Amino acid sequence: MSKQCLICDSPVILNRQAAVGIFLLIGLANSALKAAQNTNETRRGLIWLLGAAAGIAPAYPEALRNAERVTKAHLSRFGYVCLECGALFGSAEEKPPS
Ligand SMILES: [Zn+2]
Repeated sequence: MSKQCLICDSPVILNRQAAVGIFLLIGLANSALKAAQNTNETRRGLIWLLGAAAGIAPAYPEALRNAERVTKAHLSRFGYVCLECGALFGSAEEKPPS
């Protein structure tokens, strides 16, 4: 059973777990781009890609902390945010429906 927004009935809602995942992905992509830019290789290709990949693993712990902090800032004590009207609802401890 999928959840809907309690205010506008939109099915386009984001749960807390997914928000952490999205913010984590953004943080890791940013770290990968920074690592790739720091390589001295000017050509794009395998070297650039390897430089980007090398920047992901060391950045993971900080990216996860940042993702959790940003999620807490946006969702506060709530478990869901509606991406259409911005309503916050549900509990942070509530498990999202599978
Ligand atoms: Zn809504």
